[in-house]
Amino acid sequence: MPIDYSIYPSNWEDIRLRILDRAQDCCEHCGLPNYAVITRQAGKAYQLHANCDSFVSAKAYKAEHKEAFPRAITIILTVAHLDHDEWNHEVSDDRLAALCQRCHFHYDRADNDKRKAYGKHYKKNQLSIL
Ligand SMILES: [Zn+2]
Repeated sequence: MPIDYSIYPSNWEDIRLRILDRAQDCCEHCGLPNYAVITRQAGKAYQLHANCDSFVSAKAYKAEHKEAFPRAITIILTVAHLDHDEWNHEVSDDRLAALCQRCHFHYDRADNDKRKAYGKHYKKNQLSIL
């Protein structure tokens, strides 16, 4: 689901960098490092090809090894809202986590299904009864 940064706090980049630093630039669920080049295998298994220090170097590595690892992907860490409330501009760091694509997708899956069913702002300005 595309990210609408217009609803995020204006200092989101600072927050994002602080969370990635706290996580030591690794996924806080599976431990994969940011910009690792891997090939996913069955289940949670993967083959690690390289730990790169940037998206650009990971892209270059994949291009150079395209024949050997045709299905290689680059791990890109993003910051997940653990309560799925990106409208909360006062979110505390313990409600945020650095996650790789796969872990973020799995964590958000149920919430994304609700957004598809009820619209992307289904939770905005709603009180929780739970
Ligand atoms: Zn992960």
